[in-house]
Amino acid sequence: MIDVDAIRAQFPILSRQVNGRPLVYLDNGASAQKPQVVLDTIQRAYGHEYANVHRGLHTLSTISTDNYEAVRGTVARFLNAPSEDHIVFTSGTTEAMNLISYGWAAPRLQAGDEIILSIMEHHANIVPWHFLRERLGVKLVWVDTDVNGDLDPQAVLDAITDRTRMIAITHLSNVLGTVVDVKTICVGARAKGIPVVVDGSQAAVHMPVDVADLGCDFYAITGHKLYGPSGSGAVYIRPERMAEMQPFMGGGDMIRDVGRDTITWNDPPMKFEAGTPGIVQTIGLGAALEWMMDLGMDNIAAHETALRDYARDRLAGLNWLNVQGQSATKAAIFSFTLDGAAHAHDISTVLDKKGVAVRAGHHCAQPLMQHLGVSATCRASFAVYNTKAEVDVLIDSLELCHDLFS
Ligand code: PLP
Repeated sequence: MIDVDAIRAQFPILSRQVNGRPLVYLDNGASAQKPQVVLDTIQRAYGHEYANVHRGLHTLSTISTDNYEAVRGTVARFLNAPSEDHIVFTSGTTEAMNLISYGWAAPRLQAGDEIILSIMEHHANIVPWHFLRERLGVKLVWVDTDVNGDLDPQAVLDAITDRTRMIAITHLSNVLGTVVDVKTICVGARAKGIPVVVDGSQAAVHMPVDVADLGCDFYAITGHKLYGPSGSGAVYIRPERMAEMQPFMGGGDMIRDVGRDTITWNDPPMKFEAGTPGIVQTIGLGAALEWMMDLGMDNIAAHETALRDYARDRLAGLNWLNVQGQSATKAAIFSFTLDGAAHAHDISTVLDKKGVAVRAGHHCAQPLMQHLGVSATCRASFAVYNTKAEVDVLIDSLELCHDLFS
């Protein structure tokens, strides 16, 4: 069970006011706020334990390296990866997808090869594949969602042809909140020898993730949505895929030996981590993941499911509001438009005056926006510290918008 008041007390920012009103932070899909333990960890790492990692033999460098490397094990536990050696640190999902695109896909894909994507992917899981389309002539094959915003896993598997080389799919849509049955996709794809890249940016914060059970080849997470620092993240990579990968960025740390005409790489996972990394960001990510695991991912999911049900019922009472995505199992993420001419940006501005923070725009998911026939939506996305009372503030503020714009 979640004690939401006790959780809220751990987030200093949640007690501030915005525009003279208590902050109602519903922009968690864009980035989550940070608990005190993460702030303290960052303060300690910079204030008392800071030095570069993997370089020095002095005490601080050893402490810093130990703290940093310990997070690999934390991420492995969080994702139930078989070993920390299968975890590559990144600056976030965007870097993870580019690493996979440059490091795994580009050296093996050829003109006419196909990558299957769902229509609800975030640009981070689209643009790196567009690079391959533009540079190599790879074809992107799109699978649409149905009217409820659900994605039929069989439709994804049916899109496989003898030219399919990869499936890149979100675990949870940042716009619709739809949870994708990734496991069924992975099982079907694996039977045909096709790797599956999963964008776990949104899923990992809302529900337990078990990469061993999913059977995916790649699973990317981004720290700032997981109550951790921006500029942190990680990707689980199945060992066979890791063995096939070329380095992505070149520089310090990812090499073993560099000569005038020769070079050898460090062992994975460091082979894929060039230069001084986000040391403190990663250490902060570790604190955030430990904090989530202490709360219990099942408890977090149960609290957010209750919030989702309450928000869904209350939003359904506004018959001038169009919520995109009605999946029965969706997460507590609601993207909506209002009847009439009000633009999402105007709605967001009015909500902000009431202290309510939501995101407005295309949510880095323009193919989905085109599919839905809208140019922009407002999105209220919930986190473990949100309450039903905050849903009520959202509803009251939306009613004000309706009065203003109708
Ligand atoms: N994928 C999804 C589903 C997202 O929601 C986001 C962030 O909004 C990303 C990828 C990109 O994450 P980042 O910008 O942290 O790399």
